[in-house]
Amino acid sequence: MQPFNYKKAGQAENAVALVAPDAEASYLAGGTSLIDLMKLNVQMPKELVDINPLPLSKIEMQGNSLRIGAMARNSDVAYDAIIQQRYPVLSEALLSGASPQLRNMATVGGNLLQRTRCYYFRDTSMPCNKRVPGSGCAAIEGYNRIHAILGGSDRCIATHPSDMAVAMVALDAVVQTRSPNGERSIPLVDFHLLPGETPERETVLQHGELIVAVDLPASNFAKRSHYLKVRDRASYAFAMASVAAALDIQNGIIRSARIALGGVGTKPWRAYDAEKALLNKPANQAAFQAAANAAVAGAKPQKYNAFKVELTRRTIVKALATVGGMA
Ligand SMILES: Cc1cc2nc3c(=O)[nH]c(=O)nc-3n(C[C@H](O)[C@H](O)[C@H](O)COP(=O)(O)OP(=O)(O)OC[C@H]3O[C@@H](n4cnc5c(N)ncnc54)[C@H](O)[C@@H]3O)c2cc1C
Ligand code: SF4
Repeated sequence: MQPFNYKKAGQAENAVALVAPDAEASYLAGGTSLIDLMKLNVQMPKELVDINPLPLSKIEMQGNSLRIGAMARNSDVAYDAIIQQRYPVLSEALLSGASPQLRNMATVGGNLLQRTRCYYFRDTSMPCNKRVPGSGCAAIEGYNRIHAILGGSDRCIATHPSDMAVAMVALDAVVQTRSPNGERSIPLVDFHLLPGETPERETVLQHGELIVAVDLPASNFAKRSHYLKVRDRASYAFAMASVAAALDIQNGIIRSARIALGGVGTKPWRAYDAEKALLNKPANQAAFQAAANAAVAGAKPQKYNAFKVELTRRTIVKALATVGGMA
């Protein structure tokens, strides 16, 4: 690990003032992603600004929306009574991730900005366009079992690892930020970028832009929702494929649907075509299967991960059947 300076910020404006003007400064939240990568010399900030003292950990209703502070710990969000009742998919997604100890430290802001688990990204002896732009991608010709089948480019096929972000994308979440240019609201579905030619750019955030909160709007589908994660081990493992599904069913007909995928896309993946396939259809296996087929229609599997196409289909069907009360 490289040496670094450490500072603490007590207010959001101080934190932004310390990080924004310094290209080598970084925010430190729970540290569960950043410190790991600093130990591996994958990230080497010279200045860490600790944002743990910021008063940004509340979870509270604001009008019809639920506002979750950026410093709310993953455990506190998962066990929040309103989230468990009105947005069960989010609670389930959080509890499917990492371990209790990690969830007690990990924050909402840090979770959205965690880096990929591509093993070549974490190994500084290997070429990786995301870590060193222009150096190549060891995964495309290498062992790519855990990599993406949706949204990849010829520069990068790494998946986004977050479970929480997949549930939030399904819930139409909106990220609230603060920077020297002021405040802005960013729909989460537009927050993460596809790798394209520049896989090193992962989000629309500018350097030093601080996430202050995530808003979950009221909806008629969130209450009937579920997160299903398939992985190599029963716990403490990242998703091979995961599905956040939510349905509004009236008199047996699907009036609105949300489907987002994890473990298979280069960003938390909103499956719009699958949602369209469900709209105004009876809630039954045929509709769920049609949605699953639509979700993977554009998949581009690699040498070692073709199994993810069928795995994703089956995970979608099972998640929808559970939400529809037919599992
Ligand atoms: C062993 C292990 C297993 C895991 N398993 C899973 C899993 O199954 N599913 C899953 O989803 N995740 C998993 N994780 C990842 C874990 O969820 C993330 O490490 C965690 O959510 C990151 O949050 P943090 O607060 O610790 O972030 P940090 O490590 O503190 O920060 C991460 C990044 O976000 C930036 N940042 C943090 N907060 C803000 C903010 N408010 N504004 C702007 N920038 C900010 C930091 O500068 C840094 O670049 C696992 C992690 C480990 C170590
Ligand atoms: S898939 Fe992306 S992160 Fe992994 S080696 Fe290739 S460029 Fe790097």
